[in-house]
Amino acid sequence: LSTWSAVPAGPPDPILGVTEAFKRDQDPRKINLGVGAYRDGNGKPFVLPSVKKAEELVAGVDKEYLPITGLPEFTQRAALLAYGEDSAPLKSNSIAVTQSISGTGALRIGGAFFARFYPHSKTIYLPTPTWGNHTPIFRDSGLEVKGYRYYDKRTVGLDFEGLKEDLKSMPEKSIVLLHACAHNPTGVDPTREQWIEISNIIKEKSLFPFFDMAYQGFASGSTSRDAFAVRHFVSTGHQIALCQSFAKNMGLYGERVGAFSLTTADPEEKARVESQLKIVIRPMYSNPPLHGARIASTILGTPELYSQWEGEVKGMAERIISMRDRLYDNLVAQKTPGDWSHIKSQIGMFSFTGLTTPQTKALAEKAHIYMTADGRISMAGLNAHNIDYFSESVSKAVK
Ligand code: PMP
Repeated sequence: LSTWSAVPAGPPDPILGVTEAFKRDQDPRKINLGVGAYRDGNGKPFVLPSVKKAEELVAGVDKEYLPITGLPEFTQRAALLAYGEDSAPLKSNSIAVTQSISGTGALRIGGAFFARFYPHSKTIYLPTPTWGNHTPIFRDSGLEVKGYRYYDKRTVGLDFEGLKEDLKSMPEKSIVLLHACAHNPTGVDPTREQWIEISNIIKEKSLFPFFDMAYQGFASGSTSRDAFAVRHFVSTGHQIALCQSFAKNMGLYGERVGAFSLTTADPEEKARVESQLKIVIRPMYSNPPLHGARIASTILGTPELYSQWEGEVKGMAERIISMRDRLYDNLVAQKTPGDWSHIKSQIGMFSFTGLTTPQTKALAEKAHIYMTADGRISMAGLNAHNIDYFSESVSKAVK
């Protein structure tokens, strides 16, 4: 009898399972709108030209180990990108920061650090719904996970009243996870005015804002505009935690480039916090991968490459926005029942279409179109070649 004979088969991952079903489908019309990876106008993976240039510049350098907290130039530049040059904790050298294995690794380091050192209630509140991996990440990190209202099915928009009520009724000093921009899976973000109100309530209740910023630049096309929430919280005196990913905005998915940071009181506290981040990280994976951090650091630290990259981020965001316009126009022209304006008002890589689970199943079986069962589509999977077929198929599924 094998030692593992009692291990039960686990369920497939709800997002990555969609890609597996897509790969098995042999129909030439098939479309994968499951996973959130950018595709170019021909549906192909896209390596940013700025990344290719940076890669040439770092070719042939050594393959030594990085320090536990990663490449120092990279983490400094990543912090600058998120917090902005006017940030008080950045200027006073009070941001503790470490490289991470992309955004997921940042969340996990953060979860583990909070489980060990957060001096108050170790409950983190996540928006409902949220990215499917948030709950297992924080639960496996040792935090208790609860939810707060975020999305309103009826309006296919933000449940702002519900959100405020839930923030106000949380126990003081709870931890609150906030998607900094381009909320996944809904594509629904608070407005600037709503962010300011959220920040005020979080201050009044002494809640701890824990930001996940996986899409800086992808929402509006501008990295600084997308950093509004993070910078507003910091400039109004909040201490924050921040997870960054360079998977989407640099297209470095498989290179696993990210950062986790905490704003602290002063350089001495920062040094203490960083010493403990090292002790959290060392037994997990010793030190992070080198190549992607060098690429990101080169782009962020070379003025010409940096402005080229900013243009490329804008280009990706604009292609997605143009697909939103086209999808909306098609659905309206085809007299598809319902109000589809949310397709255009939603932000970032995803759209929560409002399609039901049975409709998503029918689309997979009859039209070879794959998306997650909650009706979320990755807008980046649409292009001039497949958008008409997609719109017609959705229209049929709804009629
Ligand atoms: N947070 C959110 C909200 C995400 O959507 C993602 C990617 N799907 C991540 C974090 C982390 O992704 P990665 O580990 O690839 O950076």
